[in-house]
Formats: sequence, structure tokens, C-alpha cells
Amino acid sequence: MNLTTASVDTLTQSATELRAQFEAYRQQGLNLDLTRGKPSSDQLTLADDLDGILKGNYTSAGGVDTRNYGGLEGLPELRQLGAEMLGVNTDDILAQGNSSLTLMFLAVLTAKDFGLRGEASAWKHETKIKFLCPVPGYDRHFSICEQLGIEMITVAMTATGPDMDAVEAMVKADSNIKGMWCVPKYSNPTGVVYSDETVQRIAALGNIAGDNFCVFWDNAYAVHDLNEVKPLASISAACATAGTEDSVIQFASTSKITHAGSGVAFIASSKANITGLKKVFGIMSIGPDKVNQLRHIKLIPNYASLLTHMQQHAGLLKPRFASVLSHLDEAFADTDLGQWESVAGGYFVSFDAQPGLAKKIVSMAAELGVKLTPAGATFPYGNDPEDRNIRIAPTVPKLAQVDAAMKVFVLCVKLASIEKALDARRF
Ligand code: PMP
Repeated sequence: MNLTTASVDTLTQSATELRAQFEAYRQQGLNLDLTRGKPSSDQLTLADDLDGILKGNYTSAGGVDTRNYGGLEGLPELRQLGAEMLGVNTDDILAQGNSSLTLMFLAVLTAKDFGLRGEASAWKHETKIKFLCPVPGYDRHFSICEQLGIEMITVAMTATGPDMDAVEAMVKADSNIKGMWCVPKYSNPTGVVYSDETVQRIAALGNIAGDNFCVFWDNAYAVHDLNEVKPLASISAACATAGTEDSVIQFASTSKITHAGSGVAFIASSKANITGLKKVFGIMSIGPDKVNQLRHIKLIPNYASLLTHMQQHAGLLKPRFASVLSHLDEAFADTDLGQWESVAGGYFVSFDAQPGLAKKIVSMAAELGVKLTPAGATFPYGNDPEDRNIRIAPTVPKLAQVDAAMKVFVLCVKLASIEKALDARRF
């Protein structure tokens, strides 16, 4: 159906039928949830051999007694694995605790209050600190900015990454823009993989932005391919070419590889930045949990075994994503009711409804017992100015539940869109 060309009679008849289906669903008392970007329990089970894997031997291959204090940089064997994941040198990466988000918070805090490369480089000396936030994006990045008093400026995502013409124009014009969030592979939530050109242009920003500009490159889905392994151009190689090594900090973690709450996180950057970060980390802690790091390297000893492990995740996730995409295709291909990207990895499908309808659709689905991420969550300050974007997270529910929830989702989008079109025709 096309809302602009369909006759009022067609729209009215559809609305009546859809309303009847809506009321019938209400009687079913569903309880389904598409909100959470978490691994399902069957994915977590793939890493259950972590438990007991050390069999009482706490000494690493390199001879470190992991039970003791120390080793701030993390176990060398695990840094090597992280280095391969992010395409950096082992010396330029630290393996730390269970959350990359913690590392992001600390990196932004360090850059702001202490300076990554000495006190003079701290952003706190500026009158104002601003970050570019590609939208739709990851709400927890936005929360870090809010918590630390950083003003957020949105920039549109395109099919190749952030709109780089806009990004370059903004960083050139405003030296108070000190940072930018990026999820370069299977972006949360659009699923976009940044093109080679986008990666190069982001690496070059350090040459046109104000002093101490830094890109926070959150590669949370570096190895989370559903089908074939999709390459992402190396940002560190691009920075080396552009001479901007200090202008990017990379992050990754095993949260969606092993156990989400008890994995290992990585942070990588130039030697100067890593020195600055280590200074702060070393004040906070005498060293990370190396016992857990050793458990991880025993379970996943090298990059090849990491990719094999991720194929098992893909096997579990593929049917769920296929269900979401086939429902959207069937209902909305060749209509003007919504837009989405066909994702090849990551944890989300991002759906853009007709403007002004996201909140309504989310609340209609809630009436029928289907929880969706709150509309607006994918924008800074929770404000989607067009009220269009809805993030669909199909990893946790079982396949039958994804299928049932998507039927409700499709129904709510259709009904909300058609009722809106009818309202517009009436006035
Ligand atoms: N970054 C992105 C883009 C994410 O989607 C998530 C989890 N939803 C995280 C970071 C969280 O990572 P961690 O568990 O390592 O803190």
C-alpha cells in the first residue's frame, strides 16, 4: 500500500480490518520483548567452558601468576588477540575489566579532566566541550556525554557511515567540538559498516579539527558477522597515513562473544594516549582481573578460534534476524510506511516509520504486550526530532517469540500509519 496514492475508501477499509486484528491481539495477553541488545542464554552457553577451564593452573603461557596483583596492561596473550580484533600493534592495546563502556567513560573523563597527553591537553580548559553524535546511535554513549556535561550535536547516519561532508564542515567551523562517537561496524542501531572512504575521512579529521580532538571508535561488533566476515578498513592504518594517531581511541570487548557480564574489554590508541590512560588506570587499580583474562585466552586461544566461535553465535542469531527482515520485507517493501537496512551483523535492526509515529507505534505495541525500546532512545537527550526511529533487538527472544512480536510490530506500524493518513485527508 502507498499512503499517498491509496483512496480514502481503501484506507478506511484497511483501518477497520487492522483495528479488529489489534483488538483480537489484545485478548491474547502477549508478553514479548524486543528491547534488549543482549546475547540470548543459548549464546551465553557457548562460552560455558570458561567455568573450570583453568583446572587449578593460574600461570599464563608467559609465566605470569594471574592470581597476584600487577600487570596493568593486561595479559600479553590476550592483548595479542585484542590487537588482531582491532588491527593494531600489541603494544598499543590494553586488556582490562569486563566492560568497554567503563573504558569509554574513563577515556572521555581522562581527556576532559586530566588530559590524554598532559594536563595542558585537557578539554576542561575550553569554554565549552561538544561531541558529534551520529544518529540514530547508542544511548549509552549519549549518557556518558550527559553525565560529563558534554553538549551533543547530531549528525545523520548514511548507508556508508556518518554524513562526512557535514562532519567535516562542523569540526572545521567549531573548535569546541572535541569528540565524536563512532560504531564503525554493524553500527548500533542501523547495522551500517563504514565504507573505506568514511574511515579515511574520519582518520583525517584530526588534521582539520581543533586541538586535542578525539574520535571514540567503539568497535563493539568487530567480529559479529551473521554471514561472511565483512572487512572494515583499519582506522589505525588510516591514522598512520594521515599522521593523526593521537586522534582516535578504539574500544572492543568480549561481552557479546563470551559471557556478557564477565568478559574482557580492550582499549587501543597511540603510544602517547595509552601512556596517558595508563597513568589514570594505574591510580584506579593495581591491575585488571588476570584470572578471567587467562580463562578467556584458554577458551579462545587465537583469532582463528575466535572466528569459529563467532560462527556459532551467527548460527543462533541468523534465524532471528531473518524473521525480522522477512516480516518487514513482506509488509513494507514497495510501500511508504517505513524504511530499514538489511543488516549483515551486529545486534539490531533500525526501522524508520513515517514521521511523528515512533512513539505511537511503541505505545500501541506495548498495549498488546510487545515491549520495544522507547522511541527517542537512539537520539541524544532521548529526543528524536522526527519521532521516526525504532530499534528492534531480536537476539534475546526465541525464534517463535521474535516471529510473534514482529507480527504485532507490523500490525501496529500499519494501523498507526493508515490512521494518520486518514486523519490528514479529513482536514
Ligand atoms: N558499545 C556498543 C555499541 C554496544 O551496543 C554495547 C552493548 N549494547 C556496548 C558498547 C557495551 O559494551 P560492554 O559490555 O563491553 O560495556
